[in-house]
Amino acid sequence: MKVFEEPFSVMRNHFHVSASCGICIYPDHASSIEEMMKSSDVAMYHAKKVGKNTHIMFRQEMNDEFTERIEMENGLRRAIENDEFILYYQPQVDLATDSIVSFEALLRWVHHENGIIPPLKFISVAEETGLIVQIGKWVLKTACEFIVNLNRRYGKEYGISVNISVIQLMQADFVSTVVDTLTNTGLAPSLLELEITESKLVETVDINLKKLHELREIGVRFSIDDFGKGFSSLSYLKQLPVSTLKIDKCFVDDIPDNDHSMIESIIHIGHKRNLVVVAEGVEKKEQLEYLAKHKCDMVQGYYCSKPVPEEEIKEML
Ligand code: C2E
Ligand code: MG
Ligand code: MG
Repeated sequence: MKVFEEPFSVMRNHFHVSASCGICIYPDHASSIEEMMKSSDVAMYHAKKVGKNTHIMFRQEMNDEFTERIEMENGLRRAIENDEFILYYQPQVDLATDSIVSFEALLRWVHHENGIIPPLKFISVAEETGLIVQIGKWVLKTACEFIVNLNRRYGKEYGISVNISVIQLMQADFVSTVVDTLTNTGLAPSLLELEITESKLVETVDINLKKLHELREIGVRFSIDDFGKGFSSLSYLKQLPVSTLKIDKCFVDDIPDNDHSMIESIIHIGHKRNLVVVAEGVEKKEQLEYLAKHKCDMVQGYYCSKPVPEEEIKEML
C-alpha cells in the first residue's frame, strides 16, 4: 500500500491508483488454498466497502454477509429469468387543478418465498452487479406500455415518471435505449420523465451531460429526485437540462410542526429556474394545504394514494 502511494507515470501523465487489501491467515481463516482465496476476497470486498484504499483482516461474520449478498445476486438473476418483477404506480397530483396528471413507476420484486420485496432492499446489489441495466430496460418498457394503454383507454395524456439509476445512464447505449423504447411503444417523448437521484447525478455530471441534452432535445423530461437531501452544490442546477425538482420527503415531514422555511426556499428556487416543483411523501391534509398555499406545483404521497398495481389505477380513475 506504501508503494501505491506514489503515482504511476504513463506517457508523462501521473496516475494515482489506490489499493484495497483483504488478508486472511492459514489455518485460522481457511483450510485450503481455494478457501484462502475466497476469505481474502471477502475481506477485500469489505475494504472496498469501507471506502477503499485500506486493508482489512478477514473475520468469520464477514462470510454471512457475503453469502447473503451472493444469494441476493443469484435471486436477482433468477428473478430476471422468471419475470418476478412488477411495477406499482403512484399518482402525481397537480395542485392548481386538483387532478392526477402523471404517475411514478415503482419497482417491486415478487419473491416466491418472501413475498413482495421493496426496491431499497435490492437496488444497490442490482447496481453493484450491473443487473440494474437489464432490470431498468424492463422497467422503462413496461412503464411506457402502461401509460400508452392507459392514455388510449381514457383518451388522456397522463405522463409517466421512471426512476433511472446512474449505472443505466452511464451505459453507452442509454440514449438509444430510451429512443427505441419510445418508438416501440409509441409514447410521446414529452410524456416521459426520467427521475435521477440528486447526489448520484451531480457526481457523474461531466460524463453524462451530453446524453441528458440529447434526450432533452427530443422532448424527454428529467427530474431531480430526493432534492435537498444530498450534499451538493446548487451551481449544477444551471447546467443540467432538468424540468422538475422533487423535494425530498424529509422536508415535507417538517410540516406543520417543525421549521419548514426550507420548503418555501426550494419552491422559490425551482420557480425562478422555471422548474416544476413536486413534493414527495405528502401524508397529511395540512401538508397538502401548506404546499398549495406556497404554490408548490404537484404532490405525491400516501395522502393522495399509495403506489398501487396497474388494476387499482384503473379502478381509481
Ligand atoms: P423514490 O423514487 O424517491 O420514490 C419514492 C418512495 O417513497 C417510494 O418508495 C414510495 O413508495 C415512497 N412513498 C411515496 N409516498 C410516500 C408517503 O407518503 N410516505 C412514505 N413513507 N413513503 C412514500 P419505494 O417504492 O420503496 O422506492 C424507494 C426508492 O427505490 C425510490 O425512491 C427509488 O429511488 C428506488 N426505485 C424504485 N423503483 C425503481 C426503479 O424502477 N429503478 C430504480 N433505479 N430505482 C427505483
Ligand atoms: Mg423517484
Ligand atoms: Mg424521492
